[in-house]
Amino acid sequence: MLALAGYPLGLQFRFYDSSEGPASHLAHTQVGAFDDLEALERFAEGLDLVTYEFENVPVEAARFLAELLPVYPPPRALEVSQDRLSEKQFVQQLGIPTAPFYPVQSHADLLEGLGQLGYPAVLKTRRLGYDGKGQSVVHNPEQAHETWAELDEQPLILEGFINFERELSLLAVRNPDGQTAFYPLVQNTHRQGILYQSLAPAPNIADLQPLAEEYAKRMLLELNYVGVLAIEFFGDDLRVNEIAPRVHNSGHWSIEGAFCSQFTNHLRAMLNWPLGLSAPKGFSVMRNLIGHLPDPAQLSPDFYLHLYGKGPRPGRKLGHITATADSPSGLEALLSGLDETADPK
Ligand code: AMP
Repeated sequence: MLALAGYPLGLQFRFYDSSEGPASHLAHTQVGAFDDLEALERFAEGLDLVTYEFENVPVEAARFLAELLPVYPPPRALEVSQDRLSEKQFVQQLGIPTAPFYPVQSHADLLEGLGQLGYPAVLKTRRLGYDGKGQSVVHNPEQAHETWAELDEQPLILEGFINFERELSLLAVRNPDGQTAFYPLVQNTHRQGILYQSLAPAPNIADLQPLAEEYAKRMLLELNYVGVLAIEFFGDDLRVNEIAPRVHNSGHWSIEGAFCSQFTNHLRAMLNWPLGLSAPKGFSVMRNLIGHLPDPAQLSPDFYLHLYGKGPRPGRKLGHITATADSPSGLEALLSGLDETADPK
């Protein structure tokens, strides 16, 4: 999607991946391991800059490339966000609220943490967790014991369970000159831990948007950030759950729903061009196509279909649909239409 946004701007792309991915339909993909420094060096030859859109790229690979050419977002952002503990500490140090947490390295830590945070609590792996993987809600001591047996041998983090009424996310963007732009807060719903739908703007955010932007500004400045940063919040008291140093699924609505999409703005930021207008054009929905696809011929032309060229598999994000209305009631109509055609039960 970055390349699709970049070609009209006259940019050219080359991809590096551990296997031939969907982007190889668009431009050459060099297949290689992320720890193969020679291959990474060959990849970097002739490039002006590098970005990544997968947060499990090893930070060593990003740092190695950063010695050869600009890598955006800065590798430190990748490092901070790859470990749920350093991420929470980073956020808290900036005076921004998170769920209460307790680092867990041993069974004794787990009991101590549960004593402090109480039940229910959420036990998560510190690294490589996404889409709800590598985590469990713990309701009682027996469950804590079982979860520990499943997840041990890895550094873990215990979090207090937050009873939030909704999940929100903010996409922020900054260029090297320090110009910033912020998309409206988006309301996200998940199915089986996977993002299912984003509404943009989220309803009733007038009082929340300035504080969310203030939090984002603190992070952007502290990281000397360049590119798009996604921040996920629990509830209207805006407790940060996660940050993602990349273009984000909850910003896909912006391709048709904002004056300048997150992808175009990520590229403009890296090139130190003036940022595009992040304002919404109306009321948008983005729905992920998870595991199965609708028949494109049957889909109303009101819906913009984005297929990723991936083989179907349960739980896999295969594409998404966006639609934009000029009023909240228009959005309601689009949502019912989506229920009928894009997501048949
Ligand atoms: P994560 O992988 O941290 O984004 O967590 C996946 C999902 O689990 C979140 O989107 C929440 O719905 C839920 N979750 C994670 N942590 C907590 C928490 N501390 N309290 C309540 N729900 C949580």
